[in-house]
Amino acid sequence: MSDEEQNAGAGAAGAPPDADDRNRAPLDLTREYTGRGIRVQWYTSRCIHVGECLRAMPNVFDSRRRPWVDLSFPEADADAVAEAVMRCPTGALHFERLDGGPQEVASSVVRATPIPKGPLYLRGDVEIFDEAGQLIRRDARMAICRCEHTCAQVSGGNLATWHDQRCQRER
Ligand code: SF4
Repeated sequence: MSDEEQNAGAGAAGAPPDADDRNRAPLDLTREYTGRGIRVQWYTSRCIHVGECLRAMPNVFDSRRRPWVDLSFPEADADAVAEAVMRCPTGALHFERLDGGPQEVASSVVRATPIPKGPLYLRGDVEIFDEAGQLIRRDARMAICRCEHTCAQVSGGNLATWHDQRCQRER
């Protein structure tokens, strides 16, 4: 089992950013951070605070700092940041290469990993539909809550993955 799997649902760091206007982005995208040859996108509602990003690059991703993503550090070259972002199991972090480097490509083979007392991790070209058959999310990385309230969360348009941690506390 990988570190990200072992730490799922552990309630580690990764707090959402302050509600200021810096790095604001439209729709459900919470913030964008532009560095050297790469732009990082942050979707706070998807984060389950596994902390993979913090472990990968503790200077760049620091949940106690605002803004919590700082791409100005010397180690934050585009390749290293992209690698750290792809460790995020939920799709809360994504990137866009601005330097011609490789963008993330979702595998056509989907890998599903159930986490004990935690979410189901999905990696690959995954599509989630609501009960009406409407596509609500397509992503390369997702964490799906396995409790009985998952449908309501999905219907709401957000895979509110924080729900896993709340459910664990209630069990
Ligand atoms: S952004 Fe991703 S890797 Fe970082 S704490 Fe949130 S879910 Fe974990």
